[in-house]
Amino acid sequence: MLRVLAALALLTTAAAADPCTEGKPFDEAALRARLTALASPELDGRAPGTAGDLAARALITERFTCLGLTPGADDGTYAQAFDAEGQPTANLVGLVAGETDELVVVGAHHDHVGDKHLGANDNASGVVALLAIAQAVVQQPKPKRTIVFVTFGGEELGLLGSSHLVAHPPRRVDLAKVVAFVNLDMVGSYSSTRAVYAFGSFPTTAAGKLLDRLDDAYPKLRVGLGGHSVRGDQVPFCKAKIPYVFFWTPDARCYHETCDTVGKIDFPHLAMIASLARDLVRGLADSKLDLGAMRGKTGCGK
Ligand SMILES: [Zn+2]
Repeated sequence: MLRVLAALALLTTAAAADPCTEGKPFDEAALRARLTALASPELDGRAPGTAGDLAARALITERFTCLGLTPGADDGTYAQAFDAEGQPTANLVGLVAGETDELVVVGAHHDHVGDKHLGANDNASGVVALLAIAQAVVQQPKPKRTIVFVTFGGEELGLLGSSHLVAHPPRRVDLAKVVAFVNLDMVGSYSSTRAVYAFGSFPTTAAGKLLDRLDDAYPKLRVGLGGHSVRGDQVPFCKAKIPYVFFWTPDARCYHETCDTVGKIDFPHLAMIASLARDLVRGLADSKLDLGAMRGKTGCGK
């Protein structure tokens, strides 16, 4: 009996201390802690193949594991390895299985340019938003469609990770079944121009219709809907005729500068943007619309 009680006490302690099942996903302190780790001087801006890149991928992998995401790479791990201009790196792919084989893909690149450019906004902000969305998804009932979470390597060298994934999709990421791609890149600089853009959210797309409604629930966000963006990891998906939404906040001060640091991040708005993106991802995953047929009509949107 005593032994049972001791085991129960251990289990209870473990559950109480489990950061994956406890806590609010869009808590600013949690977002700040993760972003600070990814954009720390020790990781030196996470250039592909560096020790900082490896450490960043280890942090993301730890979080994917902790959240219980299903590994999405073909070797049964999260890591889809590829070569970025001779440097070994990887995309990280994890998923939450839904009831159907249709897929909603959420992406954010984890690399930056390195060499004292820490890339807090570009794109540690997108990665922590993605991780928060993943946490929210695992805390909620199982989605209708499967949700795939991908962090890309080699974006700064020319969209290498996203292009690799689209050219060599893992078995679990059948591109023909992808009904939407949601990209998060630079979502921590809302205060720079007091706007967040949701490129690709055209009125003809399911995401455009959803965002038009969701927008009202976030009175403190000015959301720019529609318009194509020809820069970012959505480009290879768009070429594959997959509808996308690209969340982005302009950064008038520190884009690709050494001042892109944690101190410049607008955490209250980052939390709201991540929450809005979660509502969109969840809305797409659970939508009763025939998103496959809509994709066939609109491609990546107009
Ligand atoms: Zn970026």
